[in-house]
Amino acid sequence: MMEQFLALKREAEGCLLFYRMGDFFELFFDDAKDAAGVLDIALTTRGEHGGEPVPMCGVPVHSAEGYLARLIKAGRRVAIAEQVETPDEAKARAKREGTPVSKALVKRDIVRFVTAGTLTEEALLEPRRANMLAALAEVRGTIGIASCDISTGATVLEECTPDMLGAVLARIGASEVVVPEGWEHGPEDAGEMARSHFASDEGEARLKTIHGVATLDGFGSFTRAMLAAAGGLIAYLDHVGRGNLPLLLPPALRESGQAMLMDEATRSSLEILAAQNGGRDGSLIAATDRCVTGAGARLLAEDLSSPLLDRSAIEARLALVHWLHADPLSRADLREALRAIPDIGRALGRLVAGRGTPRDLGQVRDGLRDARQLRAKLESLPDTPALLAELLPQMGGHGALVDLLERALVPSPPTERHSGGFIAQGYDASLDELRETSGNARKAIAAMEARYRDETGIASLKIKHNGVLGYFIEVPAKHGDRLMEPDSGFTHRQTMAGAVRFNSVALHEEASRITEAGGHALAAEEAHFEELVGEICNSAAAIAATAAALARIDVSAGQAERAAEGGWCRPEIDEGAVLDIRAGRHPVVEAALAKTDDRFVANDCSLDPDDRLWLIGGPNMGGKSTFLRQNALIVLMAQAGGFVPADSARIGLVDRLFSRVGASDNLARGRSTFMVEMVETAAILSQASERSFVILDEVGRGTSTYDGLALAWAVVEAVHSQIACRCLFATHYHELARLADSCEALSLHHVRAREWKGDLVLLHELSEGAADQSYGLAVARLAGVPQPVVKRAKQVLDKLEKGRAETGGIAAGLGELPLFAAAFAPDEEEKDSLAERIAAIELDALSPRDALDLLYELSAEA
Ligand code: ADP
Repeated sequence: MMEQFLALKREAEGCLLFYRMGDFFELFFDDAKDAAGVLDIALTTRGEHGGEPVPMCGVPVHSAEGYLARLIKAGRRVAIAEQVETPDEAKARAKREGTPVSKALVKRDIVRFVTAGTLTEEALLEPRRANMLAALAEVRGTIGIASCDISTGATVLEECTPDMLGAVLARIGASEVVVPEGWEHGPEDAGEMARSHFASDEGEARLKTIHGVATLDGFGSFTRAMLAAAGGLIAYLDHVGRGNLPLLLPPALRESGQAMLMDEATRSSLEILAAQNGGRDGSLIAATDRCVTGAGARLLAEDLSSPLLDRSAIEARLALVHWLHADPLSRADLREALRAIPDIGRALGRLVAGRGTPRDLGQVRDGLRDARQLRAKLESLPDTPALLAELLPQMGGHGALVDLLERALVPSPPTERHSGGFIAQGYDASLDELRETSGNARKAIAAMEARYRDETGIASLKIKHNGVLGYFIEVPAKHGDRLMEPDSGFTHRQTMAGAVRFNSVALHEEASRITEAGGHALAAEEAHFEELVGEICNSAAAIAATAAALARIDVSAGQAERAAEGGWCRPEIDEGAVLDIRAGRHPVVEAALAKTDDRFVANDCSLDPDDRLWLIGGPNMGGKSTFLRQNALIVLMAQAGGFVPADSARIGLVDRLFSRVGASDNLARGRSTFMVEMVETAAILSQASERSFVILDEVGRGTSTYDGLALAWAVVEAVHSQIACRCLFATHYHELARLADSCEALSLHHVRAREWKGDLVLLHELSEGAADQSYGLAVARLAGVPQPVVKRAKQVLDKLEKGRAETGGIAAGLGELPLFAAAFAPDEEEKDSLAERIAAIELDALSPRDALDLLYELSAEA
């Protein structure tokens, strides 16, 4: 056994090996130690290996899913080694092979690898979150990315440059990433596969075979990098499923420039899909999601992760939301109907991957039937928007398949596939007959019990059934002797503490009839199962399209519902560089305040090319961050095609969104917080375009006052003059206000506060003009800093302010600095002398040694 185990373990490199033994999966050696720790189950030992006891732990097969889920969550991969023959088969084989039967070992094989990105089981997946797997490959400096959600089969191919990979991966949010062996650009925890799998011709060939096409042109024109990534993805799925490929829908081509770009720092600071603490509560999606289906919630998450750039596509979504918003009665009806529709996308995914159950067949049947009814209902409504008109045809057309499934299946099929009982009466006459036979035999056995009671006079005689003995007759111990008599017609089988068990010829006969008919019936149901799965696989793409149409409608209805709930408006999408938001609100903060009956103060934001950078001051806790983020979120929500929390909003399309928060706590990554702040800021300065929208919250705060002010100053200048994009910049450096003199498209704003009877009142209201004072001490008092400390701070402050008044403060003289652009123009005189010297070099007469010396000389002077 140890030999077999070790051989399997070698195949399962990097995985915990679940080794099937009877009703348990057992783990040995280090696997056992690791799993016992993660699962908090008992670690024991079993036998010895090399003179040492072998550590072991185990989980029951019937509850293995829950344990698997926890191991996967904890970042492990698991290989499942099943018994692939019965003990009888093993013995027969031993006989054939001439080995001692007593030592016959049941053959085991790894039937599947369970990894975070390749789950399909309902119990292991979160219904409202997509589960993505991504494979990366590099072809001549371009990175191809193949990503898929194998629970639904959706597959996307795209490519990017190495510096954009982080942002692309942040958008995809894969739970597992696979890269070529030894490749250095992938995430640290990526799995590796041999490089040979990541070849574009192999990827192309595999995709053609899977989708039965001679060319991929119909799906899109994919680049070599994309196809290489697809090759890696498919090879990995092959490996993980042991040749059993899951559902893969035709790949969709994702062009760069199709979606608004947001890097990881922006996503996490805007808390789009998860709040800072990692949970869904407090995130944008939690505050907007009113979907009634899991598929809808998954699509909404995708929408919010990749807002669109194409105005007409955004308008199409908005029109559908608008239509549903305008008609609350139909919307309520529609949502009621959607709520009842099963998750056909995922049921389909399981069926195609060979992990489906009769219940999944039932879900596909119910889902397709309901979709058809819903379509009829929607078609009867007036003024259908264009997007809906496009979706409706995808919701029907499964008539024959639904009919077949309706005839074949019982109303609610079980989740267990191998015990039968899911094929409906009347679908298969021979199956009905088999069932009747075993049903009659069961009735006969019931009648037999009554007859035996009469004949023996033992009223407590019972005919029972268990897995070991099959059917048997049982009487209490005190009556046992009577049935032991040789001519009683009963044969003794087992004596228990309080009972004795017997068999009889008649019982044996009926029992055999049941077993035989039952076995045939099971085999017949199994065959029907395969057939039905086959039919469903044949229509996989069309079924997936229905699922996608339902999800889109659910998202739109949910958006409309949310908008109605919160008084949100339809944004106006504009091609210009404007951002004009009236009475905007932060959806998450507003919802949080509503819980304590506090009112959110709505604020306007109005940027255009002549006034594109707002510098926002005011006290801490005054609402600066909230204002910054609400505007970024409103842009994002609008371009995702939804209504926005404002009275009105005109939004000029934004190509990239950047959000930065000064010195956030990011020590976990091992960089100093200030370093992180600067790395992230550097990315904006190199990547933002004129069409971008940037929010910068207290950038520069992570270092000393002088450094911080200097950096904040330079960053504002660069964003204003070099990038010239729309930007909101919150800061507590009053000194920055002087930038208003030199930057013509920059204006000053502040969040208002008032001291009232010695207390600070934060009004959360945005006003024009510079902040007049910092209120830092008032905030400290508000926060409960002891009175003597505040008093002392006041003395220090007075002293500092006096000094500032006398010397002009830390920003003294900054006003005289040359403008940003001028600061970088090389001094004319310098340029001339340098040019002269270079022109004077006689290149052909220069020895390598002299050339090097000259370079050193020039560089030392520069
Ligand atoms: P700052 O960035 O100026 O320190 P925040 O934006 O973090 O301030 O806001 C602090 C708190 O003030 C928030 O947690 C919220 O409770 C409240 N707040 C912010 N903006 C508003 C608003 N517009 N209306 C009502 N309360 C607000």
